[in-house]
Amino acid sequence: MSEQIVRCPSCAGYGWVEDELEGGVQDCDWCDATGYLYEDGKGIQRRIPHVDYGIVADQLEALEQQRMRELGYQGLPKPPWEQAVRTGTKGGQHPHQRGSDHE
Ligand SMILES: [Zn+2]
Repeated sequence: MSEQIVRCPSCAGYGWVEDELEGGVQDCDWCDATGYLYEDGKGIQRRIPHVDYGIVADQLEALEQQRMRELGYQGLPKPPWEQAVRTGTKGGQHPHQRGSDHE
């Protein structure tokens, strides 16, 4: 497997971006509100397919904890699906739950 998971360059791993026109936040289109993307050996990035969420959930959680440490976040790191700001959005769902969605 040559792909690795990298932080989304558009939202810096947040999974959402600020809406400059209307204010507030919206799901990041680049990573489908995941905050992370697959990147192959050539630096080509693509969304992590929903069916893969269950497989990579632990990896995403580890990356998220690392990101929080970099930000100097004090206390327990919160994965995107536990962040209040994302409740009710796609990103507010646990990857395991999203992975079982049939869209
Ligand atoms: Zn993104």
